Amino acid sequence: MIKTSLCGLTADEIHDLTGSDRKHVIAIANCLYKKKISDIMLFQGIPGRVKKELNEKSFPGIYLPVTSKRSSDGTMKFLFRNESGQEFETVLLTEKKRTTVCVSSQSGCRMGCPFCVTGQYGFRGNLSTRDILTQVLGLPGSGKVTHVVFMGMGEPMDNLENVLKACYILSAEWGPAISSRNITVSTVGITPAVKSFLEQSACNIALSLYSPFPEERYRTVPAEKKYPAHEIIDIMKNNRARKKRRISIAYIMIRNMNDTEKHLEGLKALIHGTGIRINLLPYHAIAGDNNISSSPSRMQYFKHQLVISGVSASIRKSKGVDVSAACGLLASELK
Ligand code: SF4
Repeated sequence: MIKTSLCGLTADEIHDLTGSDRKHVIAIANCLYKKKISDIMLFQGIPGRVKKELNEKSFPGIYLPVTSKRSSDGTMKFLFRNESGQEFETVLLTEKKRTTVCVSSQSGCRMGCPFCVTGQYGFRGNLSTRDILTQVLGLPGSGKVTHVVFMGMGEPMDNLENVLKACYILSAEWGPAISSRNITVSTVGITPAVKSFLEQSACNIALSLYSPFPEERYRTVPAEKKYPAHEIIDIMKNNRARKKRRISIAYIMIRNMNDTEKHLEGLKALIHGTGIRINLLPYHAIAGDNNISSSPSRMQYFKHQLVISGVSASIRKSKGVDVSAACGLLASELK
């Protein structure tokens, strides 16, 4: 009999698998997702008979990374390899009481953004819900994860089904119970998937913009041609009032490329009146790239000008997870 991985299943699916009553289903989910017990026979709160049957047809399914690396700022970076041999990266950032995991949604990516080595790496496949969850649950020494960001390898909206299911399990009371307010999905924007995500999930969403001008954005984000940012911003704006979530724009600042006065005015025109926040991020060059980040003073100037024009803006620090907020730049750094 082929055994089923419990990791990746919802409480309803555990019920379908086991036929157990709700109390035992919740106990199984708790042992797996909260206590991360790696042996079903050590699960607590369920009768021995149920445990034995569960052990015959399933296995916990959380697996460990194959390697890891520590950055100078304390950020840990991990490489996972799933059963199909697909590799993907995960980042763990611990700051005071906040533990953030930056997860990948795909092995590689097919969006082809030229500034991103993940795009250049090619597309190796979508990650399963289990692969996504194991990046949160299988990190050695991570303790209680408080925040999850989908900013690693891949475009989450290109693997919507598994990303939605992972968000659902991560925020479920019977699961890791991470507040949906602390889960953020970053995207370059695939319009139908963004719509579905906003309808089906209460988690935060961040659009990577690069430029307020379509023809210029298209050169850094090819998806712009089919899925223009202004359409996605309209959808985000209209959804904003309906659910309490954070909707933001990630704007990576590159010197003399997208930090001119023209870009500032373009940003104001695009975002003013939407209520969407802009996060300004420093650029991190990839190998062979001559571009450099805008200076801290230029970033401050942008922030100030945006704020006094009525656009909410902030500058993000240049640490592990902020680097990864570039959607693929972190993966490119690791490569
Ligand atoms: S920037 Fe994001 S969407 Fe673009 S290729 Fe890289 S991982 Fe994919």
